[in-house]
Amino acid sequence: MAVPRFLCDVHLGRLARWLRLLGFDTLYRRDLEDGEIVRTARKEGRIVLTRDGGILADGRINSFRPASTDPDEQIVELLRVFSLEGRIRPFTRCLECNTPLRPAAAEAVRHLVPPGVFTVTDEFCRCPTCGRVYWPGSHYEGMKGRIGRWLSTCRGEAPSPP
Ligand SMILES: [Zn+2]
Repeated sequence: MAVPRFLCDVHLGRLARWLRLLGFDTLYRRDLEDGEIVRTARKEGRIVLTRDGGILADGRINSFRPASTDPDEQIVELLRVFSLEGRIRPFTRCLECNTPLRPAAAEAVRHLVPPGVFTVTDEFCRCPTCGRVYWPGSHYEGMKGRIGRWLSTCRGEAPSPP
């Protein structure tokens, strides 16, 4: 089965970022009207994630309603429902614009990164669309911890402390 691609409605921006964090192709725009959501989902074969009854009732598209309003619970729900656990590719996609990241040489991003970062790492990725630079910093460690908690909750293990 192909890795599912998603389209999050306007209320699920946090969930969209976290799906991207796990590497899943996830469209999210604040300005998409219901009609455009349906058209885009049909054209691109995306599963619409929404709590909107009108979109959910549209039989022309695949859609899913997260039961929870809490983004941490929503992501665990999706990992389970769509069997995503073995298909995550963390830190491979731009959180801002959904583009797959490319490795970048330290010299190429030196002017874009706070100087102190270079004492910690020389591993960088850059978004070819919006130019954002990513590196394994303190934020990254926090994200890794969060992903670990999602996966252990998904497996039904006792949660590790935050
Ligand atoms: Zn980007």
